Amino acid sequence: SKRLVIKVGTSSLVLPNSEINLRAIDQLAFTLSSLRQAGYEVILVSSGAIGVGMKLLGLDKRPETIAKQQAIAAIGQAELIKIYTQRFASYHQQSAQVLLTRDVTDFPTSRQNVINTFEELLTMGVIPIVNENDSVSVDELDHLTKFGDNDQLSAIVSNLAQADLLLMLSDIDGFYNDNPHTNPEATLYSHITEITTTMEKAAGDKGSVFGTGGMMSKLKAAKRVLDSQSQMILASGKDPAILFDILEGKEIGTLFS
Ligand code: ADP
Repeated sequence: SKRLVIKVGTSSLVLPNSEINLRAIDQLAFTLSSLRQAGYEVILVSSGAIGVGMKLLGLDKRPETIAKQQAIAAIGQAELIKIYTQRFASYHQQSAQVLLTRDVTDFPTSRQNVINTFEELLTMGVIPIVNENDSVSVDELDHLTKFGDNDQLSAIVSNLAQADLLLMLSDIDGFYNDNPHTNPEATLYSHITEITTTMEKAAGDKGSVFGTGGMMSKLKAAKRVLDSQSQMILASGKDPAILFDILEGKEIGTLFS
């Protein structure tokens, strides 16, 4: 059976008014549960802990200190998983929480433990919901603008679980030769086999207010995926049902293979 890693960014989970996008989470749970029924093995990498935590506490901007952000992430993560678990349960799908730090790959024992956990969960038909363990790692919060969100994490997870395909759902429908938000003439790359310096230049722009990754971080993730002989598709996360179309073989978004 085909093993999929699906990554959703904060911008797909939190509405512009900073409310939690319950509809998006429900549609995601429905889609992933259906894919499980269709025989796919599914791993979800979800951001959103800080966004959800901020909402719970009624904050409208990120606090200054890393410690506060980590505390908010801890609050938000619990709530986020609660929502996911409830939504998945309504589709009779068991889910699980796996919190990782990006350095798991540096330590053979933890690396193997994570691999074993994924194998067991997938064998049991469970959908692991993965996020960075923000209380442990300072990376993501610290280098907010430098490293992406969970983009790198999703590529690492994809590699650890030896996934066939990483589906990266973003607030944009693919990778363009320039930022389409600032250049209406920009055209979509439909298939990329190798990341060139021209592409890196095209990804230079920072990105959305909510997401921390930006296109550069997605390209870096794509490079990891290509380096490990796997595949990634970057597509719009507006409607998770897009996953059905992609898996039916429709040409959507940008394929890195
Ligand atoms: P998300 O958090 O939803 O994954 P990001 O904000 O991290 O999304 O990254 C997507 C954004 O990157 C786009 O909305 C766009 O503004 C910006 N961007 C910059 N350069 C490009 C490009 N060449 N092609 C597509 N999007 C780009």
